Amino acid sequence: MATIDGLPPLRDVIQTYDLVAKKALGQNFLLDMNLTAKIARMAGDLTACDVLEVGPGPGGLTRGLLVEGARRVLAIEKDPRCIAALNDIAAVYPNRLSVMNADALAVDVGAALTPPIRIIANLPYNVGTELLIRWLSPAIWPPFWQSLTLMFQKEVAERIVARPKSDHYGRLALLAQWRCDAKIVMHLPPEAFTPAPKVHSAVVHLTRLDAPRFEADFAILQRIAAMAFNQRRKMLRSSLKGLHPAIETLLTDCDIPPTARAEEISLEQFCALSRAFAAAG
Ligand code: SAM
Repeated sequence: MATIDGLPPLRDVIQTYDLVAKKALGQNFLLDMNLTAKIARMAGDLTACDVLEVGPGPGGLTRGLLVEGARRVLAIEKDPRCIAALNDIAAVYPNRLSVMNADALAVDVGAALTPPIRIIANLPYNVGTELLIRWLSPAIWPPFWQSLTLMFQKEVAERIVARPKSDHYGRLALLAQWRCDAKIVMHLPPEAFTPAPKVHSAVVHLTRLDAPRFEADFAILQRIAAMAFNQRRKMLRSSLKGLHPAIETLLTDCDIPPTARAEEISLEQFCALSRAFAAAG
């Protein structure tokens, strides 16, 4: 069957290189090139961008990125079995695809790319969440990347874009929305993957803001959010009791009812409380 890029169908690639999916590496592959090209388009215009792709596997999304015109792709794959298949793609796109056999959690590749940089990945969910938190938490903001387009388990995607007064609202929403615009751009059923996972998935697109949405110290905001959401059913005057002896006054000064619970408090209010706490010493 003909493919949109003239390379062999992904099922043939998997057979040729004997890429039997490994559960330990979270290998649920996307084999539909129309779908991978669509995900690539969700990341925005790629023609003037370098792309960091993490976990390319047999290369379905990689090929989608290249078909959609990415200026250059750096693909980091942990599984050495996939490298030969990825090098076949690199041969068809001279100077546009670099392949690195490495653990993405152990390498720092920002400097190897030329801005603007977009990060695009279909990763195992645990690795994806850990990398997302790292990408959102650099010491200096703005970070090296312009946008993140990442596949997550649907429930994690909902936690990233969640609003106050919803069950999914928590630390991940605060962190993501403090520094980015975040939205779900695609939903995928289990059958979209081979093998099919047990859960539904969603693609989240995050565009970095030049500066955080509201002024706050990162470490203080994180600390307050952790205390508040670790006991999310408790009133703030109780969950934040250990933060400051005059916590009720700090809350009231920020127009936050001391009887409110973490999930009722907006990002703006959490940032105001962080500033009040910093000022109170
Ligand atoms: N992107 C491919 C696709 O969409 O078909 C593969 C997706 S599969 C869900 C996740 C890929 O990430 C696998 O190829 C796996 O080997 C790779 N991977 C898992 N952990 C990784 C890590 N720490 N660093 C880099 N790649 C990793």
